[in-house]
Amino acid sequence: MAESRTRVLVVEDELKVADALREGLEGEGYEALVERSGESAFFRLTTEHFDLILLDLGLPGRDGLQILRTLREHGIRTPVLVLTARDALQDRVTGLDAGADDYLVKPFAFVELLARIRALLRRGRSAESPRLTLGDLEIDRIARKVMRGGRPVDLTVREFELLEFLMRYEGQVVTREALARDVWKETSRTTPLDNVIDVHIARLRRKIDLDQSVKLIHTIRGVGFMLREGEP
Ligand code: CA
Repeated sequence: MAESRTRVLVVEDELKVADALREGLEGEGYEALVERSGESAFFRLTTEHFDLILLDLGLPGRDGLQILRTLREHGIRTPVLVLTARDALQDRVTGLDAGADDYLVKPFAFVELLARIRALLRRGRSAESPRLTLGDLEIDRIARKVMRGGRPVDLTVREFELLEFLMRYEGQVVTREALARDVWKETSRTTPLDNVIDVHIARLRRKIDLDQSVKLIHTIRGVGFMLREGEP
């Protein structure tokens, strides 16, 4: 039986750009479909399965960020790679808060797009697996056990959830807002959790990174945190 192709939804209103993306992706063996408005994309996403969404932020009507928020609110967890002409830090932070998995600033090289797509698809698959690894750090999501360098690390429930979340988004900036929402399940912005989050990150860092030559938990100043091997 032929392996089913990876399905990518391209949400882009500019016809030339959308066609170029679709043709390029088809040429790489992906099944690529185009929607030219946020509304039509949303309708399609609620009725069909896709493995990845390429989302242009500048769309007529409801813009990409609104669509992204709505998707996440509806529990659609498909990885989203945002394509944006705006490269201001604030837009990136807003996009990450809205539930984007990665960013690419226009204009970009097609090979870069392909690399990001492959990385997101790999991450999507590892997010479903019971074991996540990064270097010599291993977590078992079912047994809820953590090992670093072959030695068990004793974490509280919250610390485990925090680490698991960082690992799912390995190599990406995770904002405090995202942690408040997805780890602490705190949706009210009037309840500031920044200090609580920082305290938990500090404890997690002591347990995971203390006395290790390769640090895994990094602070991205003014934005949030990132889990990766070595300095970002
Ligand atoms: Ca556009």
